[in-house]
Amino acid sequence: MDNCLFCKIVEGSIPSKKVYEDDKFLVFHDIQPAAPVHVLIIPKKHIASMNEVGSEDFALIGEMHRIAQNVARELGIAENGYRLINNCGPDSGQAVAHIHYHLLGGAKLGALVQ
Ligand code: 5GP
Ligand code: ZN
Repeated sequence: MDNCLFCKIVEGSIPSKKVYEDDKFLVFHDIQPAAPVHVLIIPKKHIASMNEVGSEDFALIGEMHRIAQNVARELGIAENGYRLINNCGPDSGQAVAHIHYHLLGGAKLGALVQ
């Protein structure tokens, strides 16, 4: 998608600190980490948000959980635990319209809703 920040990261025209990549997914460090470990898990396919996930995409979204589980292990946060967050739409504060999970850990995390 033109003008999508995360599509540009997938293409490589915007650099990122990659943690994991395969043909369908990319995991990279968040530019403004909110925890000692804060990475973003995205499908390479442009899907704007959870609202736009079609029935043909649910297997792909399911696979993102396998990626999250593996990356959490590789980054050493699996044992103590972590948070996997998807923001969808304005009330959630979704800022980038390319579906992503935040994987956060490495410290005791605060309450979600202020
Ligand atoms: P959202 O609020 O949409 O759920 O999260 C978007 C996330 O993308 C934010 O945590 C923000 O820090 C991160 N982000 C925004 N621009 C960039 C960028 O250019 N590079 C990286 N690595 N992360 C970004
Ligand atoms: Zn995109």
